[in-house]
Amino acid sequence: MRGAFGGPRVLLRRLREVMAEPVTAQDKLDRIVVLIAANMVAEVCSTYVLRADGELELYATEGLNPQAVHRTKLGRGEGLVGLVATQAEPLNVPDAQKHPSFSYKPETGEEIYHSFLGVPILRAGNTLGVLVVQNKAHRTYADEEVEALETTAMVLAEMIASGELSAIAQPGAEPAVRRPLQATGVPLADGIGLGHAVLHEPRTAATENLIAEDVTKEVVRLDEAVQKLQTSLEELLNPDNVAPLGEHRDVLEAYRMFAHDRGWLRRLREAVQQGITAEAAVERVQSDTRARMLRATDTYIRERLHDLDDLANRLLRILTGRDHGPIEELPQNAILVARTMAPAALLDYDRTRLRGLIIEEAAPTSHVTIIARALGIATVAQIANIASMVEEGDALIVDGGTGDVHVRPPEDVQKSYADKVKLRARRQARFHKLRDKPSITKDGVTINLMMNGGLLVDLPYVEETGAAGIGLFRTELQFMVSPTLPRAGEQEALYRRVLDEAGDRPVIFRTLDIGGDKVLPYLRAIEEENPALGWRAIRFGLDRPGLLRSQVRALARASAGRTLHMMFPMIATVSEFDEARDVVERELTHLRKWGHELPERLLLGAMLEVPSLLFDLDELFSRVDFVSVGSNDLFQFLFAADRGNSRVADRFDPLAPAMLRALKSIADASKRHGKPATVCGELAGRPQGALALIGLGFRSLSVSPSSIGSLKAMIREANLSEIERAVAKLTQDEDADARELLATLAQAAELS
Ligand code: PEP
Ligand code: MG
Repeated sequence: MRGAFGGPRVLLRRLREVMAEPVTAQDKLDRIVVLIAANMVAEVCSTYVLRADGELELYATEGLNPQAVHRTKLGRGEGLVGLVATQAEPLNVPDAQKHPSFSYKPETGEEIYHSFLGVPILRAGNTLGVLVVQNKAHRTYADEEVEALETTAMVLAEMIASGELSAIAQPGAEPAVRRPLQATGVPLADGIGLGHAVLHEPRTAATENLIAEDVTKEVVRLDEAVQKLQTSLEELLNPDNVAPLGEHRDVLEAYRMFAHDRGWLRRLREAVQQGITAEAAVERVQSDTRARMLRATDTYIRERLHDLDDLANRLLRILTGRDHGPIEELPQNAILVARTMAPAALLDYDRTRLRGLIIEEAAPTSHVTIIARALGIATVAQIANIASMVEEGDALIVDGGTGDVHVRPPEDVQKSYADKVKLRARRQARFHKLRDKPSITKDGVTINLMMNGGLLVDLPYVEETGAAGIGLFRTELQFMVSPTLPRAGEQEALYRRVLDEAGDRPVIFRTLDIGGDKVLPYLRAIEEENPALGWRAIRFGLDRPGLLRSQVRALARASAGRTLHMMFPMIATVSEFDEARDVVERELTHLRKWGHELPERLLLGAMLEVPSLLFDLDELFSRVDFVSVGSNDLFQFLFAADRGNSRVADRFDPLAPAMLRALKSIADASKRHGKPATVCGELAGRPQGALALIGLGFRSLSVSPSSIGSLKAMIREANLSEIERAVAKLTQDEDADARELLATLAQAAELS
C-alpha cells in the first residue's frame, strides 16, 4: 500500500517515535490514531479497548466526535466492532450501515462514513481491542491495507498488554488484559504453588523489539533463521539420528512440511517487509494462527494449527538466541506456563525454584505429569489458552489439589492461599515427625506403606518419608525422559543406585511398561486405534524380547548378591506370566554361564490390572511370588473408561460395589495363598481409597511419596474393625452411611 505518508514502514517508524515520547497514554493514543488515519488516507481512525467487563470502549479517535471517547461502549458482539472482536478477524465492508450487525451510536457522528475496516488488536491469539478506519466513500480496502492495519494493531496490542492504559481507565473498567482471572482445570499433581509466571514458550513482547530499524537487515535475519530451522529439522529427521531430541518423528515430519510451506513463509516475509522485526513478524503470523486455532472445531485442523504454532515457537527461539544453551536463571518461586511440554524439558528447569506448572495440554497419565508429580510440583492442566492470557512475571497461584488457577489474583486471594500454604507446611512437619513411627492401626494391625518411584529424583523420598520400600518402580520413566534409548549399562547403574539408596527396604521393579500412551520418542510409534488396549507393556516385551531381555540382565546384575523383586505389567493370562518368567530364567542361566554373580533371591510378580485375571486368581496366585494391583488400569478396563480422558475418567466411582468386589476377590485370594498383594494405583494414595483397601483386607499399599505422611497419620488414628464394617456395607451396596463413615475417618486424620 502507498499512502500519503509512504506506507506501513514509514508509519511504523513514526509510531515508534510516538511510543518513545514522554507523554501520557492518552496523548500517545491520540497521536497514534492521527498518524494511522493520515497514513491510510482514512477520514476516521478509532481504537476500541476490550474491558474486563466484556465491553468495548472507544479510547481514541481521529474523525469521530471527540466527545464520544470513553463514552461510547459496545457490548459483547455488538455492532461491527463487536463482531471483529468476537471473530478475531478483520472485517472489510464498503457500506457499514447496510451490514446486519451495524449498531448506530449517535454520539459518534459516524453516520456519514460508509466504508469500514476493522481489525482485531491481537496478542497471542487473544483479542484486546479493535482498530478501525472509516471513509465517507463506498470502498473496499485492499488486501495490503488490511495487512498494514493488522501490523499496526500490534503496536497497540503491546501498549495495552503493558498495562499503560490502566492509568486512563475509568475505575472498575480496566482493560481486559490486566484483569485478575480465575479458572479451573484438571488437577494433575497435588500442592499449592504461589509465584510468578515464567513462559515456557518464548514471546518477544517488548515494544522496542517490534519495529525494525532496518528492514533489509530484518529480511536477512528472518531468512537465516528459517534456513536454520529447516536445517535443524532435516538433521533431526536424519535416519542416522535415532534421537530426534525427544520428539515424535511424525510430528517432526509434519514440522518439516510446514517449515517449507510457501504460504507460511510468504506471510512471514510480508510482515517483515511492512517494517516490523523478524520476531514480531513471527508473532504476528502466530497470533493469527492462534486466533484461528481458538475458532477451529475440527480436531485435525486444530492439530495442524498447533504444529504451526509450535514451529513458530522454534523460529522465535532461534531468532532470540534461546534455541540452545541452558535455560536462563529462573526467578524464585517460578510458575511455569506452557501449552505443551516434553517430559525432559521439565527436567531442564531448576527444580528448587519451581513452585508450579500450568500446562494447556496434558492428562493425568501424560509423561510430563508423571515427572511433575515425581518432582512434587503443583500442576494443573487443560485451561484453554492460558499461555496466551498470562504475561511473563504475572502473579500466579496454582492449586494442584482442586485444579484452581488464579492469574494476577487480588490481595485477599493471595493472602488466603499464603495461609493455606503455611497450614500445609505445618501438616507436613507433623507428618514428618511420624516418619520413624510404625504404620499401625489403633487395634494393632500393621499396614505396609511403600512409595512409587521411577527416577533418580525420587530417591531422596525413601528416607524423607520413611517409606517401607519402593512398591512400584516404573522403569519406563528412565526411558521416557531420555532422548535416546538408555544403554544396558545406564539401566544397570540406575537400578544399582536405587537398591543402594533403599538399603534393606525392598524395591519392586516393574519391567518396561511402554506402548499405549507411554510413547518413547526414539521408537517409531505404531498407529493403533485403541492404544490402551493395544500392543503395549508385556505384550510388546514378549513379542520383541530384545528390550525385555537386556532389561532383565541389567536388573539381575544390579541385584547381584541381593534380593531382586521383579514384576510384569498388563498381564492378561497366566500363560503370559509363564512366558515372562521363562525369559527371566533364560537370562539368569546365560549370566550364570558367563560367570556373573546372580541375585541372592529372585521374587517374581504380576501386575493385576486386566480384569480377565479376576477370573483366574487361584491359577495366578499359585504361580507368582506376589501380586501388585494396578488400580488405575484395572478401573479403566473394568468400567471401560479411558483414564486419560477427562470426559469419562471421573464418571464412575472407584469405590463402587463392582470395583470393591473385584478388589476383595484379590485380597481374599492373596490370603488363601499366603502371598502378598499390594495396591499401587492412585486409589491407594487417596485417604478414603486407602481406608477402603485396608477394610477389604489389603495390608500393603504403594503410593506417591507425598501421600505417605497423611496416610500414616490416618492409619494410626483408625480402628480396623470399624473400617471393615463400613467397607463390608459399601461392598454390598452404595451405602451412604458407610461412605460417610469413611469420609469422617479420613477427615479425622487430616485434622488431627
Ligand atoms: C496402574 O495401572 O494402576 C499402575 C500403577 O500402573 P501405571 O499407572 O503406571 O499404568
Ligand atoms: Mg498400569
